[in-house]
Amino acid sequence: MLRTGQQYREGLQDGREIWIDGERVKDVTVHPAFKPIVDVKSRMYDIAHEDAFRDTFGYDEGGDRCSTLLRRPTQQRHWWESWCALDAFFKDIKGVVTRVGDETVGEMWSLYDGRDVLNKIDPRFAANISNHIDRVLHDDVFHVSANTDPKGDRSIRPQDQDPDMMVHVVKETDAGIIIRGAKYETAAAYADQAFLKPTVGAWTDEKQSDYAVGCIVKMGAPGVKHVCRSGFAGRGRKEDYPLSNGFDEVDTLMILDNVLIPWEDVFFYRFTEGARYIRSTLHRYSAFPYVLRILYTADMMIGAAMWNCRQTGLDKMQAVREKLADMVAYREGIRAHLAASIALAETSPGGLLMPNQSLLYAGRIHACSNLPQVMHIARELCGGQLCVTPNVATFEASGTKTWMDKFYSLNQNWMADDRRKLLAFARDLLNSDYAGHRLTFVQFAQAPHFNHLNALYQSFDFSGPLDMVKQFAGLSDRIDAKPAVAPVKSAA
Ligand SMILES: Cc1cc2nc3c(=O)[nH]c(=O)nc-3n(C[C@H](O)[C@H](O)[C@H](O)COP(=O)(O)OP(=O)(O)OC[C@H]3O[C@@H](n4cnc5c(N)ncnc54)[C@H](O)[C@@H]3O)c2cc1C
Repeated sequence: MLRTGQQYREGLQDGREIWIDGERVKDVTVHPAFKPIVDVKSRMYDIAHEDAFRDTFGYDEGGDRCSTLLRRPTQQRHWWESWCALDAFFKDIKGVVTRVGDETVGEMWSLYDGRDVLNKIDPRFAANISNHIDRVLHDDVFHVSANTDPKGDRSIRPQDQDPDMMVHVVKETDAGIIIRGAKYETAAAYADQAFLKPTVGAWTDEKQSDYAVGCIVKMGAPGVKHVCRSGFAGRGRKEDYPLSNGFDEVDTLMILDNVLIPWEDVFFYRFTEGARYIRSTLHRYSAFPYVLRILYTADMMIGAAMWNCRQTGLDKMQAVREKLADMVAYREGIRAHLAASIALAETSPGGLLMPNQSLLYAGRIHACSNLPQVMHIARELCGGQLCVTPNVATFEASGTKTWMDKFYSLNQNWMADDRRKLLAFARDLLNSDYAGHRLTFVQFAQAPHFNHLNALYQSFDFSGPLDMVKQFAGLSDRIDAKPAVAPVKSAA
């Protein structure tokens, strides 16, 4: 069943406890900080019901109409089709958003691949993951990701400090487990549920097992409190900050104050190997839609820089063209990694089709770690007017309009209004509070850089280069290119 935007909004009216700027939010669907992004997610639901988009956003499975964006991939075309759907969606909303469900659902597919591991502890848990994957698909659930605890002092074991610094099980009951702690989580306040799992860590110490818990948390469950950072929407007029006011994905410190997780929502607990497994495979699917968003961010930067250069005639200069070409090389590098990861996709242990892991993780490193530098090239190409241009009110006011029209009209094609609009868009993309936040989002929201590097290290097959050097250098047959202990395939 494909939900409508209205059904999604009604689902958020579950009495959930949300706080922002010291204020208790009565209705997340109309609060100014959340309304724009709730509208975007509603649009994602509604668009699948429109004739022009029906086949792009929906497909038939098990007698139901389901979302293309939530489909378990088993064929290459499934990856191309979800790419096409996202492309259509971003063009429709005229912006880019990341945590709207499709980018996080893949984390559960990774756990599905590990049913054998889960079966070791209790077969009930393996069934739970299949049931939840079906439920997300058939009930069209908005599902987000809860990985990161406040963590406290990392040089001290969790048990030896405030134990709530990491989410842990405090009690087992007939109805389920009771958990305490907190997680940082984008979009939690306006999502339906989250897949909660242990944070990035070594997960080798069995004594940490109270902390090795994976489950589904319902966002309106008793004891769940959403304490949100300040929003960017409403800071200035939409004409001045079009992205801040349209696409801010509000992040939450989700506090879990003795929350009951029913048994059917538990995937593993008191199971350090489960924690190790999920941490080593978590992003094998979801890295794809995450990196795909950065391709669109790159296009927005290239478009903004190129329009600015055309407005000002700077695109005729060779040195400027070289900077634009650097941006294009970054953009095409992302596209090449994504396309190649589909073309060379691999069958997963659970029988799904995962993007080629080494190519996907290399693409994630390329996209995330080079973003600051490319963003700065775009900023530089847009010039200093990016940050000194007055706001729309000044362009409209009778005392200043004539001067704004005079100094911001470049020629007959480029009048002041278009110049102002382009500079406002570029400022919000590159220079605003929102722009800085998005840059940090890309660096951290899925995992931090060191973790991206580890994922690539674990998934790249080193035997090729090792064998090559063994042959070319004439090394003896006593040494073997295969590692003594096989790496976990496709870690994230
Ligand atoms: C905008 C934004 C959105 C987010 N959304 C979500 C979300 O939706 N869900 C979610 O679960 N989390 C989310 N996060 C949290 C994110 O996953 C964490 O920020 C990330 O895992 C890093 O944890 P930390 O911030 O506690 O940094 P720390 O763990 O304190 O690390 C800080 C730095 O220390 C260094 N470092 C730490 N440990 C190591 C190590 N073992 N090896 C090498 N260097 C190391 C690295 O330089 C690292 O960047 C979000 C974060 C941001 C900024």
